[in-house]
Amino acid sequence: MSVELLGFNIDDLTFEAGIEKAKQLIDSPKVSQVITINPEMFQNAEKDPAFANIVNNAEMVIADGIGIELGLRLTGKRIQRIPGIDFAKKLLKESAQNSIPVAIIGAKEEVITKAVENLKKEISGLNIVYSHNGYFNNDEEIYCQLKAKSPKLILVALGSPRQEEFIFNAKKVLNPALMIGIGGSLDVWSGYVKRAPRIFQILGLEWLYRTVTQPSRFKRIFPTLPMFLIKVLTYKDKI
Ligand code: UDP
Repeated sequence: MSVELLGFNIDDLTFEAGIEKAKQLIDSPKVSQVITINPEMFQNAEKDPAFANIVNNAEMVIADGIGIELGLRLTGKRIQRIPGIDFAKKLLKESAQNSIPVAIIGAKEEVITKAVENLKKEISGLNIVYSHNGYFNNDEEIYCQLKAKSPKLILVALGSPRQEEFIFNAKKVLNPALMIGIGGSLDVWSGYVKRAPRIFQILGLEWLYRTVTQPSRFKRIFPTLPMFLIKVLTYKDKI
């Protein structure tokens, strides 16, 4: 099941159903892409047709934040939010239980090293066959190294749209796997960045917490949400 927002399809699934779909994609004979969409990505898709094409071709698009939930409500639709960071963590747990090899790419060297160390401590049986920091220029080299290890689940934390582009291009070259862009999740898992307290998460106000604790994000996030909501309200279906 999916719902449409500004001309894009978003999966309308509970957290558990989303995990089931992801598990099926892990078993499918191709590379699949999961996008955890937010208002900023809609803005990018509007400016950049190549990015819009990536979103349109993703095997799964999940509603990451309150912005998408609000946008859908304005058009009379309700959907369950699926925070990408929780979704990715659950996929790691499922992978450990089912002996699925995992790769993690992204963030600064000390961040990914610490994140991998913490994840291995937390999730027994987690099989990380490949990890690499996110500051590289030669994507082909990374694809080549990934191909040699054949992970079935690949988490990519390069920020958006870089991570979505990296995953999209990987579709043509990698062995079958599920790839998901996870933004700043490694910063949180490493302990370098604190996640918002639970109450902010429940209320869908993680963005507010992050904006206040990392003021550099203010300029980026603040105008995006109201502009996105205005766009949703004024959007006329072109069909
Ligand atoms: N990042 C990276 N390579 C880059 C740019 C960013 O690995 O060339 C990492 C960055 O270190 C951080 C993550 O991508 O761990 C997410 O970055 P950001 O918070 O800017 O993205 P967002 O989560 O807002 O999409």
